[in-house]
Order: sequence, then structure tokens, then C-alpha cells
Amino acid sequence: MTDFQKNKDLVFEQVAQAAQAANRSKDSVNIIAVTKYVDSGVAARLIDTGITHIGENRVDVFLDKYEALKDRPLTWHLIGSLQRRKVKNVINLVDYFHALDSVKLALEIQKRAEHTIKCFLQVNISGEESKHGFKVSEIDEALAAISECDKVELVGLMTMAPKDASGNEINDIFGRANQIRQELQKRGLPHMPFTELSMGMSGDFKLAIQNGATFVRIGTSFFK
Ligand SMILES: *Cc1c(COP(=O)(O)O)cnc(C)c1O
Repeated sequence: MTDFQKNKDLVFEQVAQAAQAANRSKDSVNIIAVTKYVDSGVAARLIDTGITHIGENRVDVFLDKYEALKDRPLTWHLIGSLQRRKVKNVINLVDYFHALDSVKLALEIQKRAEHTIKCFLQVNISGEESKHGFKVSEIDEALAAISECDKVELVGLMTMAPKDASGNEINDIFGRANQIRQELQKRGLPHMPFTELSMGMSGDFKLAIQNGATFVRIGTSFFK
């Protein structure tokens, strides 16, 4: 039997320790519980332990969970890639969208949004061909195009380390993401505050927090 309270307490404690080790306040790191491995009944039991941020990576599952749990005081994160044809079904329900990975998608969000949508620009720091996200060399051109999309609020960057990366490699990637984020924040562009950094999963959230993550996306550790 999964002990949700124990798992929750352990994750929150480890996040707090990692924040303290990095001279950061624990409140500067938001913990998103990624519930993609379980149905909404099981997710509700985890939420009862004191979860306030919930994340799903697929639109259809997001919508099911949202329908079942929308009366709870939760902040809703869509963390996986979004096909353009599905934008209209979901975008006005999400509090944060973490996987803005093309200009065409930004244009579709602009078209369908009924209010400002908080988005993370997904960046592919390592340049791996299989990964979603803008390469670093593509960011400036993307921002120029997205500057026309005033309903797309670029709150920050999101990134993922390659699956087989070593600790050192992950550290470099996360450090680079934070550098780029800081540089973009300094530009002070309209509707592009770039104050946030979404990175770190069950296997690498400590490194992410060391490197300035403000949102960590944790699934497995809650459900083992
Ligand atoms: C599944 C998923 C996570 C959580 O990963 P765990 O290793 O289970 O903690 C984080 N981010 C995204 C985009 C995911 O799809």
C-alpha cells in the first residue's frame, strides 16, 4: 500500500533541504505533483495530504482529472506537448502551460485564449534531435514572433535533461537554462517576465533546485 502522507512529507522535506542548501527559501520552489500514473480517485488521496499544484502531460487525461477535481483548491499545470487542434479544448482551463515549443502553437493559443495564459517556453538545451523545445539558437526568433501574441505570457523557461545524462551533464544543462532565463528576464520585454524556471523531476529535482528551479515536476516519488 502506498503511504501518500509519508511520500508527500518526504518529497517536501527533500525539496526544503535542497532549497536550504542553495541558500534559497523553500517557498521559492513550487512542487507540482504529476498525477499521470494514477486515476483521479488515487490522485485525490495524494491531494488530501496537502498538494496544491497538480500536473498532467496529456490533454485527454488532464480534462478527465479536471472534471473530477475542479472543485478543489488546486493550481492546474499542463506539462506535456500540446497539439494545435487540442488547444481550444483545454487552454482556458490551465493555470500554467509548460510546453510551448513552437511559434505556430503560440499563435493558436493567442487565437483561442479568453484571458492571459501563463506559458513556459520549452527549451532543448542539449540540442538532442529527439527532444521537444526550441534550441537555444532559435529563441530570439521565436520571441520576436511571440511578441505579437499578447495573451501568451511567457513566465519562464521549461527544460528537461536527456534521459541518459550524467549528474554533471544535468547540472550543466540546468545551469545554462537558468543563465538564459536571467538574460531574458533582464530584457524586460512586454508580457515576457521570465521570472520562473520549470525543471527537475523525481530523479534530478535536487540539481534543478541548486540551479534556480522555481517549479519542480514530481511524479514517481509520490506513488512508489
Ligand atoms: C512524467 C513527467 C514528469 C514527472 O516525472 P517523474 O520522473 O515521474 O517524477 C515531469 N515532467 C514531465 C513533462 C513529465 O511528463
